[in-house]
Amino acid sequence: MATDTVLKAEGLTKDFRGFRAVDGVDLSVLRGTVHALIGPNGAGKTTCFNLLTKFLSPSAGRITYKGQDITGMKPAAVARLGLVRSFQISAVFGEMSVNDNIRIALQRRRGHSYDFWRSQRILAELNQEAAELADSVGLSSFLPTPAKELSYGRKRALELATTLALDPEMLLLDEPMAGMGHEDVERTTELIRKIAASRTILMVEHNLSVVATLSNTITVLARGKVLAQGDYKTVSGDPRVVEAYIGS
Ligand code: ADP
Repeated sequence: MATDTVLKAEGLTKDFRGFRAVDGVDLSVLRGTVHALIGPNGAGKTTCFNLLTKFLSPSAGRITYKGQDITGMKPAAVARLGLVRSFQISAVFGEMSVNDNIRIALQRRRGHSYDFWRSQRILAELNQEAAELADSVGLSSFLPTPAKELSYGRKRALELATTLALDPEMLLLDEPMAGMGHEDVERTTELIRKIAASRTILMVEHNLSVVATLSNTITVLARGKVLAQGDYKTVSGDPRVVEAYIGS
């Protein structure tokens, strides 16, 4: 194989009633890397993320995942291929325990009928797997806790656990640190580093020190276009990037 590109966008473009929010973006995410999408407000990051996760359809361009054209596919179909977007926090069921939230995500992955889960042996197996996943995101002491009682940072950790329950090959994270205090940011950074050891990650993130710590590759967007691409040192030393941030 000449290339180990997992997710690729070519000429990705999105128009909103004549306004071009994303303008001919080319992007290649390499296997096993953490790739960050950054840029000043209004640069087109969210739109680009929604295009890549198939929550929006592009006006032009092509998206491939492991060589397969996914441009016209629905989010659920690409998730089945292993490309999964982290759930929105609202997808965590507040009244349910941490254990049950993760277990339901595991059941969804296995895709069996409801009756199947009444088997005690299967239930025990699922609870064991849920406990391991909770442990991997630092929630082992919160298994019986209703999700709504978790701190904001721990809710985001639960959201990650339910995403990991689907066993994605590639994860797309939308501002994983948004709204977090210092301690939660540190914990989540470590968690993403751990996840990145075995999976490919693309994230939109505002916290530049997190981006510097975690990312192998960074794509900087400004006014819908790719302004710079490379490692943190390269892009942060690019005068056009500095200007785009100062000018925003
Ligand atoms: P970022 O995430 O980098 O802040 P966005 O992708 O949210 O940028 O937005 C890029 C540009 O597209 C902004 O000017 C925004 O106002 C515009 N935009 C985003 N979504 C829509 C929409 N649904 N309709 C019209 N304009 C939109």
